Amino acid sequence: MKKTALLLLASLFALGTAFADEEAAAPAAAEPAAPAAVRMITEATFPPYEFRQGTDVVGIDVEICKAIAAALGKELSIEDVEFDSVLPSLIAGKAELAAAGITVTEDRKMKVDFSVPYVRTGIVVVYAKDAPCEDGAAAAGKRIGVQNGTTSADYVREQLGQEPEMFDSPASAFAALKQGKVDLVIADIDPAKNLIKGEPDYDISDFLTVEEYAIAIKKGQPELLAVVNRVIEGLQDSGKLDEIVDEWTAKADALQSAGE
Ligand code: GLN
Repeated sequence: MKKTALLLLASLFALGTAFADEEAAAPAAAEPAAPAAVRMITEATFPPYEFRQGTDVVGIDVEICKAIAAALGKELSIEDVEFDSVLPSLIAGKAELAAAGITVTEDRKMKVDFSVPYVRTGIVVVYAKDAPCEDGAAAAGKRIGVQNGTTSADYVREQLGQEPEMFDSPASAFAALKQGKVDLVIADIDPAKNLIKGEPDYDISDFLTVEEYAIAIKKGQPELLAVVNRVIEGLQDSGKLDEIVDEWTAKADALQSAGE
């Protein structure tokens, strides 16, 4: 009896070790393959940086990310989410690159790493010409539409000390302005310029802020950051970035003028 129990124990032990061996071998075999594509996460309501042309997401940021993917020897895949989900999705590991006309801010720098900047820009007021608004002081106290999660929303809260009206895109904030639901829109200058193309009754103010756009990556990847910076600096030095900006600004404007 005692012998049988011992034998049973011994064989159970053997079985256990066999499983343990298999488990030890498993992680290497199941190691996820490196993604075949470099994944860009963006928010495609921001012409000329990212916008839809038919079903494709196109624009300046897409061209920059394509060049980064090419430098890494990969294709680029693109995911389009709400602007306030772009950085959380990057941090959650859903993409390698976040590019969405993202302004470098101290707050965001605590959460992600930024590339060298590739544009110097800022936000402006979009107003009806019969109710002009040339600066922040004149905007104070008005109903101001902004895109969710943007530096424009921060500006209204921090500089004007009031709550903005939130929209999911600069275009929907502008639609609310045209319907009289808000008095003004505050947005980044390039999408703002795009919005007023073919809209003779509307105009934009001078800059309210000075901002810079950069590509964000998850923290702690110095090698990827070096590649991203090298590609951006290469595009700047060769004059290619200027060409990309001109090309996609013209294409976004043509699309807007065509009423799409
Ligand atoms: N540059 C602004 C920001 O980073 C807006 C960007 C956007 O709406 N895509 O907050």
